[in-house]
Amino acid sequence: MSIINKFIKNNINDPYILVCTSKSQMLFCKDILDKKDIDNDLIPTPKGFGGVCTTAIKFDKRDLQDIKNIVRYNKIKTEGIYPFSKKYKYNLKEIYNDNLSQKFIDIIKKIEAGVDLSKEDIVYLLKAKDKEYNSLIKTADIVRKECVGDRIELRAAIEFSNYCKKDCNYCGVRKSNTTSRYRMEEKAILKKVDELYKIGIKTVILQSGEDLYYTTEKILSIVRKIKEKYRMGITLSIGERDHKEYKLFSKEGVDNYLLKIETANKELFERIHPDDKYDERVKHHRLIKEAGIRVGSGGMIGLPGQTLENIAQDILFQRDFGIHMIGFGPFLPAKGTPYEREKSGELEMTLKVVAITRIVCQHVFLPATTAIASLHPEGQTLALKAGANTIMLISTPPNLRENYEIYSNKNMVDLSFAIESTRDAGRKMPKYLNYDYIKDMGYDIEDSLI
Ligand code: SF4
Repeated sequence: MSIINKFIKNNINDPYILVCTSKSQMLFCKDILDKKDIDNDLIPTPKGFGGVCTTAIKFDKRDLQDIKNIVRYNKIKTEGIYPFSKKYKYNLKEIYNDNLSQKFIDIIKKIEAGVDLSKEDIVYLLKAKDKEYNSLIKTADIVRKECVGDRIELRAAIEFSNYCKKDCNYCGVRKSNTTSRYRMEEKAILKKVDELYKIGIKTVILQSGEDLYYTTEKILSIVRKIKEKYRMGITLSIGERDHKEYKLFSKEGVDNYLLKIETANKELFERIHPDDKYDERVKHHRLIKEAGIRVGSGGMIGLPGQTLENIAQDILFQRDFGIHMIGFGPFLPAKGTPYEREKSGELEMTLKVVAITRIVCQHVFLPATTAIASLHPEGQTLALKAGANTIMLISTPPNLRENYEIYSNKNMVDLSFAIESTRDAGRKMPKYLNYDYIKDMGYDIEDSLI
């Protein structure tokens, strides 16, 4: 069995899901299943069975009775145990009104019936043009509305160090690049977190290159202080770490860990990441998940040498691995890297990938990425219209952010830009922001957006 099958499949052929009332109950239950060697996997709770970005335990029907007994004996608090047939039905009748090919209609019918799309279906959708392109975007928008509603999710990233020990071929902060380097100390990071808390941001993303200056203790100290004072959600995006560290991060309350696969094609992955092995990256996705942290992943569209089959495989990886937050953006060349003269990924192809990912993965967070906002001035709005529901603010201090350019000409998406994209996409801002404070800061935001 290849490592990918070993880590994804888990020998679950007739899946059921168990939804617990809290993360701690879910982890307690998973721990017992692991000790008893019962095949299981953590996945985003499907639409209709729990909130977006919560986690369910997937298992095989053959273990149903054992699991019921375990739940009863250990007094595990659950919402319920359900067969994993996608019960939630989408009404896509308005899509059929268009003049579409039979193959396209067959795929739409599969989506309506909750049947998983095949790689061949996805490749077909990736080739969609004109009417079929418009219908694909419309379908994704219907699924998005049903799954996650009209409000966007707003998160904020503090890029606290651009030191990196690796040399990824596409990355502007790779160690061989002569960019000016910086590190933020704990106090400066917490000062930024305080500003974000005041505007009402609920989840902060702490992002850096692979920089071991930030030891486990340093990271844990920052995490503890954010949790104690602000009780905010925390996403770490600091590269591959040790499995013991993932467990410690989880214990201190880290909610999400962003570690992109970038491409699920082993050969392409190892070509663009000279310091990394594909199987290791997959293993780290699994270790993070098993530590009880939700995994964020995603990839780049338009990488040199990437085919439509590769892209279809990238989308299926996100689904089969049960990824909670999936960021697909265009490949953008960065100055001073081996890929600086390569062509950027295309807007339309990236939008198709966002749309298909929403259709295939459904009940997850999909960012309208900074990369798509950097490729085209309307990229973020168009991604929101194609199934995306999340915007990430760049909240690195202004004097440092120019040095965190993974790709060149990065759009420094700020609150004004996010408000504009949300308005242009006909969507609403999140309820949880502190709008009085935001208006006092001078932001122009009409009540209909709130
Ligand atoms: S992509 Fe990440 S790991 Fe690779 S060089 Fe850039 S910052 Fe470092």
